[in-house]
Amino acid sequence: MSNAAMRPLVESIIRNILEQQFVAGAGPGGPAPAAHPQAGYSPNLVVNISARHCHLTQEHVDILFGKGYQLTVMKRLYQDTDFASNETIAIVGPRQRMIPGVRILGPCRKFSQVELAFTDAISLGLDLPVRLSGDIVGTPGALIVGPAGSLMLENGVIRAERHVHMGQKDADFYGVKHLDRMDLSVDGPCSGLLKNLLVRTNPDWKLEVHIDTDEANALDLPHAKNVRLVKASV
Ligand SMILES: [Zn+2]
Repeated sequence: MSNAAMRPLVESIIRNILEQQFVAGAGPGGPAPAAHPQAGYSPNLVVNISARHCHLTQEHVDILFGKGYQLTVMKRLYQDTDFASNETIAIVGPRQRMIPGVRILGPCRKFSQVELAFTDAISLGLDLPVRLSGDIVGTPGALIVGPAGSLMLENGVIRAERHVHMGQKDADFYGVKHLDRMDLSVDGPCSGLLKNLLVRTNPDWKLEVHIDTDEANALDLPHAKNVRLVKASV
C-alpha cells in the first residue's frame, strides 16, 4: 500500500485512539472521591477528548456534499442529542497546508464552526482565539473542501474553550451554576491541573468534561489514574 493510500487508514486509527473515552474511576486508582460524600450522591464524571471537528449549517452541507444531502450517523456521542457523522471535510489554511478527514458532528446547526487544537492551527498557519462554542464573531475563517464543492468560511475557526456539561443534579452536588468555573485535577504519569473550565448546564445533559487533544495529551489522559472536578476558588 502506498503512503497516500495508507493515509485514511492511519488517520482513522489515530482518531479512534483520540476519541477513546476516559471514565473517572475506571482506572486502577479507583473511583474519584466525592466532593461532598455526605450528600449520598456520587457523580459519574466522564472526561472526553474533543478531537478536531466541525459543525455545519445544512446550507453548507448542500455546497460541500450536494443539494439536499443529509449527514449520516456514524456513532452517537455521550450527549446523545449529538452524533459523529460518517462525513468528513478537509480544511485548508492560509499557508495552503491542509488537514483532511475533519469529522462533521451532527445535527446541523444555525452556524458553521470548526474546532481545532492549537497544534492543528499552528500547522495550518492560523492564530486561533479560545472561544465558547457559538461565540465566533471576529474569529478567523478557512477554506473547507468537501466531495462536491468547497466554500470559504468567513469566520468560525476556534479553539473551543475547555468546559464541563452537566444537569441540575450535578450542578447542585458541586455547588455551581451555569457559566461558573471549575478546575479539573488529573493524577497519573503526567499529573496536572486544568483551571477554569466553563460550566454549562442543561437539564438533559450528563456530566461530561470536554477538553481538546492538546490538553488531553499534555496530561496523558488515557493513562490517568484519577480525575477530580472541583469548584474554582476564584
Ligand atoms: Zn462540549
